[in-house]
Amino acid sequence: MSLSLSKKATAVKPSSTLEITAKANTMKAEGIDIISFGVGEPDFTTPDNINEAAIRAIHDGFTRYTPASGTLELKKAVCEKFRTFNQLTYQPNQIVISNGGKHALTNIFEAILNPGDEVIIPVPYWLTYPEIVKLNDGIPVYIYGEKENGYKVTAQQISAATTDKTKALVLNSPNNPTGAVYPEEELQAIAEVAIAKDFYVVADEMYEHLTYGEQKHISIASLGLDIYQRTITCSGVSKSYAMTGWRIGYTGSSARIAKLMGSLQSHQTSNPNSIAQKATVEALLGNQSTIEAMRVEFDKRRKYMYQRVSQFPLLDVLEPEGAFYVFIDFTNVLKMSYQGQPIHTINRVAQILLEDYHVAVVPCDDFGFDQFIRLSYATSLAAIETGLDRLEQFITSLKEK
Ligand code: PLP
Repeated sequence: MSLSLSKKATAVKPSSTLEITAKANTMKAEGIDIISFGVGEPDFTTPDNINEAAIRAIHDGFTRYTPASGTLELKKAVCEKFRTFNQLTYQPNQIVISNGGKHALTNIFEAILNPGDEVIIPVPYWLTYPEIVKLNDGIPVYIYGEKENGYKVTAQQISAATTDKTKALVLNSPNNPTGAVYPEEELQAIAEVAIAKDFYVVADEMYEHLTYGEQKHISIASLGLDIYQRTITCSGVSKSYAMTGWRIGYTGSSARIAKLMGSLQSHQTSNPNSIAQKATVEALLGNQSTIEAMRVEFDKRRKYMYQRVSQFPLLDVLEPEGAFYVFIDFTNVLKMSYQGQPIHTINRVAQILLEDYHVAVVPCDDFGFDQFIRLSYATSLAAIETGLDRLEQFITSLKEK
């Protein structure tokens, strides 16, 4: 026997967004004034009513194991939220509460994939999907969103990518990194393909509360019984409730899949944190006005960031409709030179912005689009203004090669 390591584990790419955030934080700790557009987490603190529910849970001694797949109280609260917000009817035995949305997605792919199963992943994608699919012996099949369609994929593209090995489609709306939101008619067409070609839809609706303007979030599973039966709807409280650190995500699925995921979870992690589960009941059923206030604030920042970036030379940007990201095409920047050196790669752009302009951004090569940058507007309007001033200085300093 050698002391070799798991091939699957060593093949996993570390999350580049977390790496960039870590590097920016180190520079901040050294006293450098960094503006961070990297983070995928709200800058707001968790609302008081939610914090108080957690404190009450501690005082009440609610600090022991709960059922592995979550408390009945929280499952009922999730059912209520699915009923009122998503027009979806689930019973508690169809719900699994997990340690954050990422864990919920891990459970899903562990529960449905066998070696060689194909999972269609629209590009650009949130960088974790391909890694989770591969860790569970699945094969990612990539289809590319076109600018003309807001970087969303079409039902025709999905249909053309299916084979007899297609097991599932990942559908992320509102989308990270593009901020696109799939409208009902597009979801309906995708649902028809899923039914006709007989595969699962993994609907990642983590940003469901964060939509702006006319566009409203619609759950694909709400579009009819056939699509409901083959969809696993995944969400959580991290983004909409400013609860990233609490680690609560959840799924709605068939009772059969929920039972399987609950069983996997019982061996792998046991229950999610009992106190965070109590806090999540309050988040989902309590006063929603602070949530709306955060959404309104995100919307102001979205408008400001989009309007400014769309006026910068060399950059190309579409108006995002959801989540808290602006997805920017830097193709023309890559053709320029900076301080006499050709730029070439999006990672070089991110490096220059961090080191010379003290702005942290996410280069999207790990999201499948290697000429794009994602800016998060989950930071104050004042920071956004300063950060965009610096970005503008960088862009205007560039010279033809
Ligand atoms: N889904 C998407 C699209 C995300 O962007 C994220 C977090 O960045 C998650 C799921 C996971 O969220 P959580 O922090 O609850 O694991």
